[in-house]
Amino acid sequence: MNRGVLANLRVLCPPRRLTHGEALRVAEIQAARLLALSGITEGPVPDAVITDVPKVMVKRISPWPVSGCTDWAKGSWVIVINGAEPPLRQRFTLAHEFKHIIDYRFIDVAYPPSMGMSSRQRAESTCDYFAGCLLVPRPWLKRAWGNGLQDLPKLAQHFGVSQAAIQTRLLQTGLIQRPARCSDVGRGWRFLRLPSLVDKDTSTLLEQTDAMAL
Ligand SMILES: [Zn+2]
Repeated sequence: MNRGVLANLRVLCPPRRLTHGEALRVAEIQAARLLALSGITEGPVPDAVITDVPKVMVKRISPWPVSGCTDWAKGSWVIVINGAEPPLRQRFTLAHEFKHIIDYRFIDVAYPPSMGMSSRQRAESTCDYFAGCLLVPRPWLKRAWGNGLQDLPKLAQHFGVSQAAIQTRLLQTGLIQRPARCSDVGRGWRFLRLPSLVDKDTSTLLEQTDAMAL
C-alpha cells in the first residue's frame, strides 16, 4: 500500500460542516476506497487492510480500561486495542479507531452538534458506521444475501463480525426492517392477562387464537 493512503482517504471529506447523512456517505466511500486500494474483494476483511497502512501501529494491551483509543506518538499513529475483549469486537474496534485517524484533521469542523447529538457522539457514530462499511461492505452483503446466505450466524462468520454487527448492517442496507416498537401484534393473538412490571416473560402474555398467527 502506498504511503499516501491516508491522504487518499482524507481528500474524500469536504472541509466543511457535514450533515449526519453526508458524514455517513463519506464514511462509506472512504471504506470502499480503502478496500479498493488494498485490492481486497471479499470477506472476511483482514486486519492488514489497516495494519499495513504506513505510519499506523497497533498494540494490544490487557487489561485496558476502554475498547480502544488512538494517539499520535513519535511520528506514527498508535491504535491501542483492549486485548481482553473478544476477537470480533477487537476487529470492529480497530476499524472504528482507524476512522478517528482519517478524521483527525476534520474533527473540529465536520461534526457540529446535530439531531440531538454532540460533536463527540456524531464522531463516534460515524466511526462505528465506517467500521461496519469496511468489514461488511454494502455490495458484498447484498451479493451474499442474494446468493441465499441469509442466516445471521452464517453471515457473521462469513464476514468475521459479530451477529449484532451483521444485524446493524442488514438494517442499514435495507435488507431487513426494524420490527415496529409499538403496534398491533396481529390477528390471531390476544392477551391472557395484563403484563406486570415484575414479570418480564412476555411469552406468557399472549396466546394463539387461530392458525393465522403461525
Ligand atoms: Zn471512538
